[in-house]
Amino acid sequence: MTPRNGRKSIYDDAMETFHRAADLIGMNPRVRLELEEPDFEHIFYVTIETRDRLVPLTAEEAAQVRDVRPSSVKAADALEPLANGHFVLHRRALLESDIELRRGVINIPQKGIFRVQKGGPRKFKAYRIQHNQVRGPYKGGIRFHKDVSLDLFKTLAADMTWKTAIAEVPFGGAKGGIKIDPFNYSREEIEHLTLRYVYKFKKFMGPFLDIPAPDVGTNGEIMAYMMRQFTDGEREHHKLRGVVTGKDVRIGGSEGRLKATGQGVVYCIEEWARERGLALKGARVTIQGFGNVGSSAAEILHGLGARIVAVNDVNGTIHRDEGIDVAALVQHVHHNPANLRRTVAGFRDAAAISKDDFWRVEADICIPAALGEEITGDVAERLRVKLVAEGANGPTTRDGDRVLAERRIDVIPDVICNAGGVTVSYYEWLQNQRLEHWSEADVNARLSLALKKNFGIIMDVARDRPQRDSRAYCVGRAVDVRTAAMILALKRIEAHYLLEGFSQ
Ligand code: NAD
Repeated sequence: MTPRNGRKSIYDDAMETFHRAADLIGMNPRVRLELEEPDFEHIFYVTIETRDRLVPLTAEEAAQVRDVRPSSVKAADALEPLANGHFVLHRRALLESDIELRRGVINIPQKGIFRVQKGGPRKFKAYRIQHNQVRGPYKGGIRFHKDVSLDLFKTLAADMTWKTAIAEVPFGGAKGGIKIDPFNYSREEIEHLTLRYVYKFKKFMGPFLDIPAPDVGTNGEIMAYMMRQFTDGEREHHKLRGVVTGKDVRIGGSEGRLKATGQGVVYCIEEWARERGLALKGARVTIQGFGNVGSSAAEILHGLGARIVAVNDVNGTIHRDEGIDVAALVQHVHHNPANLRRTVAGFRDAAAISKDDFWRVEADICIPAALGEEITGDVAERLRVKLVAEGANGPTTRDGDRVLAERRIDVIPDVICNAGGVTVSYYEWLQNQRLEHWSEADVNARLSLALKKNFGIIMDVARDRPQRDSRAYCVGRAVDVRTAAMILALKRIEAHYLLEGFSQ
């Protein structure tokens, strides 16, 4: 717990809740040591060959190369646009094309004048932190993002240990990924990178060892690459489908998994609204992040009659007081091939506002569903909502938490609020083991029961209101909801150590 440069790391910060809860339950000192740091911190490097790119010339540079004749590239998919304005030049561009290249410059009508930048080998830093496996195989997402670090992955891996215990699924906690901006690489490069990651990490993965899932910057397609690489050449490879979850339903994924995290967020919000005697019909909601979690939560809440009044993402913010047309927004973000960054920016039927103003929009519920540490003390001061439902992992800082509590804004902590994803991942894993395929209605019925029951236990612990299911977890005094959730997790985890003992 040493502060670095006088500033605590994200991990140290996040572990404050752990220590508070451990003190409250009088946790066995050896169990505390086991949980205080991860079991394993894997850091490794992966290399790939990158393709040549077309980099747009500045207006000034372009003015000097007017003599380059326009080229005609026939193969429609030969030039793959990237979010940074570059194009990946696939070799099939040469097929049946009429190309002129002068001093490395190419002129492509309707696209622009570009310099050809040679591809070549690139190296990326990769991580997998396996935090704890006392309750079951390591489990957690794979993140492809430019701002990742050992400290961040340690925090997220520990969160998975708490979350799997809270959701009562027989898994431990892990997290990992690659430091990369995936929007600036072609699909093929991302595929190669993923295959290489699994190639290097394979001996530490497996359906009973460590089971990745999608997280920020990854999706079902990437899970398919991981499964293929892991099972390739294995004699009984169908038995190994459970090595990753979040797969496409056509290749062993579960019905309902794509929307499970957003669905879980909504189940928790429903319970909160029921307790508060509020109706979701007509409720006003703001959402940060319109990726997997944010857009699913938006669609489901919209279906329940709520109004999504503002959405912020990394590239922009939109606002419409009467409620945004969610189906049209999903179309704009996720089904429009020209929207390379998958952003809400540029959506026509809502006004563009600043991120600062987003936090001030008056609403009943705010769902942070992007990255961590967004709701700082400052942001919490500005919020005009009744509830923060944490779709993202770690969106609220310690300061943010303090201010929300002072202002009596309720919080549904991430470890229960976004646990729908890992819960349905467990159902997917079970279906893979049994070679079964469950209906979406079955999946959601189980998910709803599991989350609502555990959410209820957390609220009982928070209010010190012992009931049949919660009696074993109450600590004789009221605590904040985040601490209550951690108490539930730690008691369930500690039981394994106390009952099974330690291998020496
Ligand atoms: P995603 O990559 O599909 O979407 C991320 C969204 O966040 C995008 O809309 C992006 O524009 C936005 N974003 C990124 N940086 C931002 C910033 N600085 N400010 C505002 N918006 C920003 O990711 P996802 O799978 O939806 O995950 C979102 C969050 O939910 C993450 O914290 C993730 O760890 C957590 N989570 C995801 C799952 C899952 O099943 N996918 C499960 C549990 C928790």
